[in-house]
Amino acid sequence: MQALSPALFLLLFFGCCWLALRDAGRALSLGSALILQMYFHELGHLFVFRRNGIRSRIWWLFPLGAAAAPVDREEKRRSDGLPWNSVAWLLQAGIMANVAGMLAGSLLRSASTGWPSHFGGDLLTAGGVLAISNLIPLGKLDGGLLFHVIFSSLQEKDDVRVAWGLAAILILAVLAAVVSIAWLGFADLIIAFFLRTGWFVGFGLIATGIWHRQGMDNPAHAESAQAMTRRQALVHILYYVALLYISLRLVLGPLWINL
Ligand SMILES: [Zn+2]
Repeated sequence: MQALSPALFLLLFFGCCWLALRDAGRALSLGSALILQMYFHELGHLFVFRRNGIRSRIWWLFPLGAAAAPVDREEKRRSDGLPWNSVAWLLQAGIMANVAGMLAGSLLRSASTGWPSHFGGDLLTAGGVLAISNLIPLGKLDGGLLFHVIFSSLQEKDDVRVAWGLAAILILAVLAAVVSIAWLGFADLIIAFFLRTGWFVGFGLIATGIWHRQGMDNPAHAESAQAMTRRQALVHILYYVALLYISLRLVLGPLWINL
């Protein structure tokens, strides 16, 4: 089943893409880009597990997905005891691997022609889907677990600062985008606004997720020996914002306009 799962996934993705595109070549390209980006994502997690001395491997579970996880219960117990700073790197690493794959795809797309160029574009799209969905700080997604360890590590006062700080960054980015298009004519302004719908919806989801996570935090966790320092939490937040910006920028185009 392990060896078969990637092949079954490829078949499934190929089928879905073919139904949508009615073009076998394009469907194969997009399907394999998705498998490759799923693999990159798990490799990112696997790298950090192994750096922390946890024996782990990648499990392919058709049709659920793929997961990098400890090989047995004993290793799982050891990984549960890792400092939350390491856990946070573990969570960011999957998204970082997808962003690296997106950058490679975007280079390939612009540096080549024909099918390699299309495949570069597909790597970018597939990585974007995985990176952006995992950045949303909800539930068991990587972003959700990341904010869980960040809020768990910090004192209540700092939790509120983080939530307001991130909301302020998102609001300022939207304001800057509006100001950068405000000098256009009214019709252009409306068009420019709709072209950025993806950004605004993404920001709205992220801000909602962050406030939701902050509300769920158990203040007693901050006393845990596994908690990260404020400085470590700040580094993770900056990394998160950078990954969010790069992913959205690559998929959706510029937030700020310069005509
Ligand atoms: Zn992940």
